Amino acid sequence: MSPPLLAAPEALARILAECTPLPAELAGVQQALGRVLAMDLAAARTQPPLDNSAMDGYAVRAADCQETPAPLKVVDRLFAGVGPGQPLGPGQAVRIMTGAPIPPGADAVVMQERTRLDGSTVQVLERPSPGHNIRPAGEDAREGQLLLEAGSVIGLAEAALVWGQGIPVVPVFRRPRVGVLSTGDELGDPAAPLPGQILDSNGPMLTAAAARAGAEAIHLGRCLDDPDALRAALEAARHLDVLITSAGASVGERDLVRGVLQSLGAQERFWRLAIKPGKPLAWARWGNAHVFSLPGNPVSALVTFELFVRPALRKLAGHPAPAPGELPGRTAVALRKAAGLRHYLRATVSFRDGTAWATPLPTQGSGALRSAAQATHLLVLPEDVTERAPGDPVGLVPLNWLA
Ligand code: AMP
Ligand code: MG
Repeated sequence: MSPPLLAAPEALARILAECTPLPAELAGVQQALGRVLAMDLAAARTQPPLDNSAMDGYAVRAADCQETPAPLKVVDRLFAGVGPGQPLGPGQAVRIMTGAPIPPGADAVVMQERTRLDGSTVQVLERPSPGHNIRPAGEDAREGQLLLEAGSVIGLAEAALVWGQGIPVVPVFRRPRVGVLSTGDELGDPAAPLPGQILDSNGPMLTAAAARAGAEAIHLGRCLDDPDALRAALEAARHLDVLITSAGASVGERDLVRGVLQSLGAQERFWRLAIKPGKPLAWARWGNAHVFSLPGNPVSALVTFELFVRPALRKLAGHPAPAPGELPGRTAVALRKAAGLRHYLRATVSFRDGTAWATPLPTQGSGALRSAAQATHLLVLPEDVTERAPGDPVGLVPLNWLA
């Protein structure tokens, strides 16, 4: 009797519990995009440095414009990038462009469209309140104060904040170093495959998937279903943070990956999950490295990568929310399955009346990559579920393998 299969949520929880973020390193802001800040970052400068105008218009004293139209004498012109100019006296206005500093004495800006110019006098047609159309100094950042919190993902806005500060490098968690090994006697030389051989698509696919998940990923090539060859290939990859193998992890007579890993001292944490596709997935620790042995069927490899490996890579890279979780949706059609395994059906989703309606694709074979290419989501049917009627709620996993 083999032990009961482990449920997917429990498997993911165990993986994440053992993935601690990698050490921090300094990276240029460009290189930090998509990565996670490892420490709080303080502002190096106050931004904007001065109170400045949010509009092209006239800087005024709000008290001068209580009755409109208010005629004010235009005494100066201010452009972005200049000093704050002369103080403004009662009854005076200054022509001001967006971004120009507010002159001393002014406390509001009236947009040009709400004025009329008569020679050197401007008629203010609306009553501004103090502070109107003024961007206060320090609105975005104050020197020495918190700019970005540890755990922030450096997206475009975060990067722009840092660039605007003139900060050249930021502390981010190191990217996981990942190697992908394709195993199987059936994998031919792409330049000259023998009759009956197939070409390795899992290797490049998983390498690209790991890179998209934020890793530094390399494809380690193909390896025969041979213990000595496997041992040599695995030992050469020992220094990596994460090793992903494809195929040879099931119960066939040539499924040798797990046995070879154990002979090298790897500690298997689990093997075989209560999922379809992807049941033969194994996860082991080998020193500090995580080893994920993925099934060879391309869809199983892709689905198990998405559900288990991607969250692991993100957790290692410091992401505070590494697993996407399921979105609520409804099935558009009746569904049936046997109890026991959690099914992940490739599905397309359309949005109607604020609801995500999912329709499984007709082909669900674990080798059927074309239906994976058409799918936008995985429709989840938990272990105990045996049927769902049209309109019943279902969980949906958005697919990150879409471009
Ligand atoms: P296995 O997990 O070793 O039983 O492999 C199951 C099936 O996955 C094989 O029969 C192949 O059709 C397919 N397969 C294995 N390795 C690859 C690969 N690198 N690229 C594409 N398909 C593969
Ligand atoms: Mg095989």
